[in-house]
Amino acid sequence: MSLPAFIREKDGDLWLTEVESGHLRLEWKLKRVLHYERSPFQEIAIVETETFGKALVLDGVVQTTVQDEFIYNEMISHVPLAVHPRPERVLVIGGGDGGVVRECLKYPSVRSIDMVEIDERVTAACYEHLPELAGWIYDPRVRLRFEDGVAYVRDCKEQYDVVIVDSSDPFGPATALFQEEFYRNVRRVLLPGGVMTCQSESPLFYMPVLKNTYRILSELFPVTRTYWASVPTYPGGLWTFTLASLGPDPGDGGFRERIRDGETRYVTADLAEASFALPAFVRRGLAD
Ligand code: SAM
Repeated sequence: MSLPAFIREKDGDLWLTEVESGHLRLEWKLKRVLHYERSPFQEIAIVETETFGKALVLDGVVQTTVQDEFIYNEMISHVPLAVHPRPERVLVIGGGDGGVVRECLKYPSVRSIDMVEIDERVTAACYEHLPELAGWIYDPRVRLRFEDGVAYVRDCKEQYDVVIVDSSDPFGPATALFQEEFYRNVRRVLLPGGVMTCQSESPLFYMPVLKNTYRILSELFPVTRTYWASVPTYPGGLWTFTLASLGPDPGDGGFRERIRDGETRYVTADLAEASFALPAFVRRGLAD
């Protein structure tokens, strides 16, 4: 198997180098490379790291590891699914590794999940090598659509109770998933009382992206709330999500009781509620 430039042998060991925003490099010692290919959209690698277990890597950026994926996937899924009083139709944009779909299936009210992932090869590789994440994608409630999420919401005639935007970082195929036209169309495909959430990046390395996402969503939705978690896999650890709603508010009653924390490894009702209490620098950054 030919190796990508971001995986190199050094002194008999395999190392993956992740370059973060140009001035930070993270190195992951690997046990083995399970899969590598160039799809029409990106370089796809699935590796087994010494410290975090198996990981999905896209264009040299570690997307998710089996060691801590549950933190991110539970936070991006359970919060909107509990803020909405009775989610039945869910749309996932991105999410090709399958982790978000796995979490959405834990809500009995959810009747259908459309997962719109631009790169079919990501899902195929994850289904083969990361069944812990992608093992549920052929559940009868799931419809897989391999197309650009931007075009899907622009042309979509269907409507949803919850939309979850589980995108990669704002470059390459994900660039347009951080722009106003996309979020405007997400609002259009939400049913009355609908709720959306998106991963809104690191407040340490991508504060301008977080601020812009929050600004756009605040202009489009009556309720916009950023919440956060610590995801060790991601550079700097701190990670944010931004929820925007056509009605339901995390401050409403019922949010806590609807969190299915008997089926989680990270999220609890207390933690979900507390996650909206932002670090002071993040709150000030959003207020600017
Ligand atoms: N869940 C992980 C995380 O913690 O961030 C990773 C997210 S998931 C792997 C990101 C997915 O978004 C990738 O599979 C990528 O192919 C997909 N994606 C990027 N741009 C897209 C677009 N315009 N439409 C649909 N999917 C897109």
